Parts: sequence; structure tokens; C-alpha cells
Amino acid sequence: MLFRILGKDQFHALVEIILKSNEVIAPKRIGAKANGQPIHEFLPISAFDEMDLHYRSTQYSAKTYFLPYQETLSTFRLHGGDWEQEIAYRSEPRAIIGLRAYDVNALVKLDKVFARGRFPSPYYISRRKNTFIVGIDHDPLEDEFSQSMGADIVTHGFDLFLTDLGDRYFVAIASDHAFSLLSMVETAEVTDDDTQTYKEVRRRILEGFKTQINAKNLPNLLDLEFTSEVWKKWGKKCLSCGSCAMVCPTCYCYGVNEEVTMDFSEAKRVKQLYSCNILDFAEVAGGHNFRPDHETRLKYRYYHQHRGFMEDYDEPKCVGCNRCGRVCLAGINPPAVIKDLYEEDL
Ligand code: SF4
Ligand code: SF4
Repeated sequence: MLFRILGKDQFHALVEIILKSNEVIAPKRIGAKANGQPIHEFLPISAFDEMDLHYRSTQYSAKTYFLPYQETLSTFRLHGGDWEQEIAYRSEPRAIIGLRAYDVNALVKLDKVFARGRFPSPYYISRRKNTFIVGIDHDPLEDEFSQSMGADIVTHGFDLFLTDLGDRYFVAIASDHAFSLLSMVETAEVTDDDTQTYKEVRRRILEGFKTQINAKNLPNLLDLEFTSEVWKKWGKKCLSCGSCAMVCPTCYCYGVNEEVTMDFSEAKRVKQLYSCNILDFAEVAGGHNFRPDHETRLKYRYYHQHRGFMEDYDEPKCVGCNRCGRVCLAGINPPAVIKDLYEEDL
């Protein structure tokens, strides 16, 4: 990894360069809550000033730019006795600016499944390869527990990662593409003073985490508590709306539908993100539902995040952003559920 110092005016110039030849996605203020707190989402921007890097969080993650809610995998067309198939991958360059460390880490986890897993997805890979990632450090939110999940620090998965030192950025460079882009603006070598300031900022961030969960023994605890009353307690509240999975940067379960036109001349295979909390998620042909009640579906979402993924990849799937906890109308959130499980175990 290489490090440089980038003045804020030079960062502005860099974004203008990126804007010239990329679709640029960045945190954009889209309104305010009743209490005046601003609401941000990752959206396309056409000018530097539309971006707000001082955002708290976004309701949706940037997952949607890699795993869209709905996408056509292939289209089939019939002509006489013959047929043709069309498959379209994304190839236009895109940049996402302003991802937090936990969101970059979420992409690294998705890479393990969709780029380097048993069944790589060319749709995901084409988007990921064509997306330039600029991450940025942030002071943790009150309810964020990314430190407990080991997702508050990034070492790869991005092109540039910025740490705000006040009047300048400390920049980590992780790709050739980023290195050549940076050569188009003015940067400076890192001095001892910069390193010292960087360490102080990182220390402030590390010490700023207010929410922690005990993730060390979680897979074993989940096995022990498979039939715990805790699942009933939280399951009773769950509305099975699926919002938690939609906003989650790492939830990737999906269904595939085949749509055929009335005259049988065209068919589409459409992939749609799904949530394991939705009633028919585990329903199979013949109508049997393996997870007919709320508590079982809720439990399996936690098992995939903190137990199943761990078994396959030696790390949890959850990055501790707590988007699921914030969006849940029933007040279900990982720190509270996991705390209950630990207390049940005592
Ligand atoms: S946990 Fe909350 S957000 Fe998720 S399905 Fe249940 S009610 Fe909806
Ligand atoms: S499960 Fe919740 S806290 Fe964990 S990554 Fe998903 S949205 Fe974030």
C-alpha cells in the first residue's frame, strides 16, 4: 500500500476528473427527518457540490450498485423454429465515492461469494471490476458496532481510502488505476507530522465506538441457543417485512423468476433480491414451508450472518453497520438480540 497527502482543493479537482469519464455515485442529502437530522442516500451526482462526505449514514447501502434489487439475467427470443439468448453485463465505468470502512468490508465479503466463490457471478464481477471505490474514514455512530465485527478498518477492497486530517486527506492507494488518477493532481509525500496527525485521528475513531457486541464466541453461542426463548421473544415482534435484508450491505439471498410473453415469442429470466424473513422464503414445491413462523425466519437470518458465513469464510457476514436495526419498525436490532442470547446462556 502506498500513502500520499492530498489537499482538499486537489481532492475537488480529482473528483472533477473522475466525473468526466465515470458515472459517479456519492452520499447525497435527499431531505431531513422531523427532528431536522439530514437523510442521505448513495445516488448519482453530476457535480462535486452535490456530494456530502459529512453524512451520518445512508438508509440503503451501496450494495444496490452491485446487486440491484431486480435485474434481467437473460432474455430469450423465439423466431420460427429457432431462438436466441441475450445476456447483458455492465461495462460502463463507475465510481463510488464516500464509502465507510464497513461498506468497503461488506463489498469484500460479497466478493468472496460472487467473485471468488463456488459459483462466480459474471454480472457482479462486471460491475465490481468497472467500479472505482473511494472510501473515507468516519467517527462511529452511536449504534454502530463495526469494531466488534472487525469491519472498522480496511486494508483492501478499495482504490483510494481517505482519512480527513482537517485541511488535507491522508490517502491510502490500493490500485494502479488509483495511482495513475492521483498523478493527474498535486499530491505530497507523507511527512512525520502527517503520520502523527493520522495516528491521532485513527485513535479518536477507535476510541469513539460506543456500541460493542461480544462476537468472539458467537457461532458456538448460536449453536447452544438454537431453541432459545430469545427467538420467540424477538420473532413475535417481527413483521416479516424484509426491510432489514434490503438495507443490509451483505444480505444477498435472491429468487429467480421466468417471465414469458403471452404469445411465447420472448422470455426473461429475472433475478430479484429476497429476504429470509419473508413468509414464503423457505416454501418449496407442493406448498410445504420449512420456516413457517416469524421466529424461525428471524433466527436463520442471524445464523447466516454470524454462523453459516463463518463456517464457509472464517468471518461473520455482518459488518456491524446497524442499518437493519435502524430500519426495523419492530425495534429488532443485532446488539439487543445478541445481548439477550448471551444473558440466556449465563
Ligand atoms: S426484523 Fe424488522 S425489518 Fe426485518 S423483517 Fe422483521 S420487522 Fe422487518
Ligand atoms: S446484519 Fe444489520 S448490522 Fe449487520 S451488516 Fe447487515 S444491516 Fe449491517
